[in-house]
Amino acid sequence: MRVSENLAVVQTRITEAATRSGRKAEDVKIIAVTKYVSVERAQEALEAGIIHLGENRDEGLNAKHEIIGEKAVWHFIGSLQTRKVKAVINKVDYIHSLDRESLAKEIDRRADKPINCFVQVNVSGEKSKHGLELYEVASFVEAMHVYQNIRICGLMTMAPLTDDRDLLRNCFRKLAECRTHIQSLNLSYAPCTELSMGMSNDYEIAIEEGATMIRIGTALVGE
Ligand SMILES: *Cc1c(COP(=O)(O)O)cnc(C)c1O
Repeated sequence: MRVSENLAVVQTRITEAATRSGRKAEDVKIIAVTKYVSVERAQEALEAGIIHLGENRDEGLNAKHEIIGEKAVWHFIGSLQTRKVKAVINKVDYIHSLDRESLAKEIDRRADKPINCFVQVNVSGEKSKHGLELYEVASFVEAMHVYQNIRICGLMTMAPLTDDRDLLRNCFRKLAECRTHIQSLNLSYAPCTELSMGMSNDYEIAIEEGATMIRIGTALVGE
């Protein structure tokens, strides 16, 4: 399938989910996750009108960034090893996987300008997943005030791989509640307006629960 055909389907579903929850489709940005696919396929996504691209490894990001460059807005969505920070930091616009202070320190040291970071939260508490637990998020965000180049733009989560819709909904809802709490702290470096949640399998529920950025790979560009 062409990306443009997949996109038409995804956009219809976004509109329906937004309407069901009294939101506007324009308030949900699509990040095309291109980690599985070629540079050509990523370019096809851009031609279809998607400007946000997501990669989860430094190799994939660099290979695509070299060719596509500033035509896209770049999102680093994978867990980020501290020693890899310098390889990606000045190519990305958003990092979705801030989950520890040592990583913040390295981002702060290497970045030329403030970087939009999502705090990754492990809402479900699965051992296999990266991210802070919900109860740790507020104190972590408060500790970020010393880093001039860290801007906390929002929270990110990966829901469990399940078809249990209630469980998924509950996970997204808890992240949205946590976001509201962080916003209420009124920290200048942490506006925390964004919610990065929802993938191919669960983006409609995520939108119903307030997602502002959804990260779609399989359903858009393929596996
Ligand atoms: C791979 C990946 C996605 C996209 O997954 P799909 O199920 O293919 O849509 C989204 N977010 C993260 C963090 C990923 O690693």
